[in-house]
Amino acid sequence: MKYYSTNKQAPLASLEEAVVRGLAGDKGLYMPERIQRLDDSAIRNMKNQSFHEIACTVAQAFFGEDVDKETLDHIVCDTLSFDTPVVPVKGNIYSLELFHGPTLAFKDVGARFMARLLGYFIRKEGLKQVNVLVATSGDTGSAVANGFLGVEGIHVYVLYPKGKVSPIQECQFTTLGQNITALEIDGTFDDCQALVKSAFMDKQLNAHLKLTSANSINVARFLPQSFYYFHAYAQMDRMGKADKLVICVPSGNFGNITAGLFAQQMGLPITHFIAANNRNDVFWEYLKTGIYTPRPSVQTIANAMDVGAPSNFARILDLYENNDVHQEICHHISGARFTDEEIADTIRRTYQETGYLLDPHGACGYQALSDYLSGDEQGIFLETAHPAKFKDTIDRILHTDIPIPEKLQAFMQGKKQSIGLPKTFDDFKQFLLDR
Ligand SMILES: *Cc1c(COP(=O)(O)O)cnc(C)c1O
Repeated sequence: MKYYSTNKQAPLASLEEAVVRGLAGDKGLYMPERIQRLDDSAIRNMKNQSFHEIACTVAQAFFGEDVDKETLDHIVCDTLSFDTPVVPVKGNIYSLELFHGPTLAFKDVGARFMARLLGYFIRKEGLKQVNVLVATSGDTGSAVANGFLGVEGIHVYVLYPKGKVSPIQECQFTTLGQNITALEIDGTFDDCQALVKSAFMDKQLNAHLKLTSANSINVARFLPQSFYYFHAYAQMDRMGKADKLVICVPSGNFGNITAGLFAQQMGLPITHFIAANNRNDVFWEYLKTGIYTPRPSVQTIANAMDVGAPSNFARILDLYENNDVHQEICHHISGARFTDEEIADTIRRTYQETGYLLDPHGACGYQALSDYLSGDEQGIFLETAHPAKFKDTIDRILHTDIPIPEKLQAFMQGKKQSIGLPKTFDDFKQFLLDR
């Protein structure tokens, strides 16, 4: 399978090239040339299958031409060492819990898959060391660091803003050692991101080191997220609740929801999608006006969605490009946006009414879904992170002291190892050249 760039100015790439490069040469995002439709019978049969079996079928459709079946099945099984259960919350609203992985957020799925696929290409081609650069305000760094931990031939540099990442999140990528180096940058998240971007554009650095990114622009991180949409459908089907299914996705860079749109194009019968946003609402505005105006992000309590220029918007435009794009996108996706006060209100009310503890991101999803859903529909919102990852916020909202799961506690017992760097590119570049 070949991959083209959404900007259509770069040559077609193989899967391996698309994964190693991340972004296409013309700064577009890679898209698979074809999205293979699965047979209706295959999808109906998923209710009798395990998550592994379902994911292997979906992975085969994307990657089957480029990776032999045995290797691919192995990568899938190794990635999915945890479940993504659908649990009832209230009436016709269900939560797809994506936080049972090692760092308790949905990004574990894509990060683990990408690490294993990249590791396979490195072994197969005998590539020299690949260096993954990732800027993080919290969740991405922990998922990528843990996903890539111990993978031979890959070194990960996590750049994070000094003093601006919660202690729970910080220990998830600073205590690992091995092939993971945490760089504590004396600056903001935007400074970290600017350093990574400059590094990808620096000729001397790229001649010296093989650099790639591991955010949701990478096809190997983004496509595997479609696995759990099929798994969610299968679980609803098993309960006899798969008719008129609406799925609501708390969105920042829009990688997660785009994977859902891909699943729909593969034949998964999803009636409608909702993109739930916090105050960073450029997509919501686009739906309303047809005009897309990216702008700097604002800080909210659902901080993994603090994105002012969602990178995967380019993929959504590309998916529906042959028609009236705006009309087509509105036909498939609705939007919603919430202030911090509204998010806090939803967390409080849902906990009181149902006993279900939402995290700030899932709260946007739950509220958008419950505002949208009509009586004869079923709804699933994606619960993208475990509430304990945002303990300070949740404790403040509920006046409680919520327990920290063992998995998170284990990280907190490790020894913090990080290297402090100023925010100037010259220092960062010299640091990499000296390695
Ligand atoms: C990354 C993240 C999101 C946003 O996902 P996108 O794919 O960027 O839209 C939502 N919730 C949590 C907890 C996240 O970590």
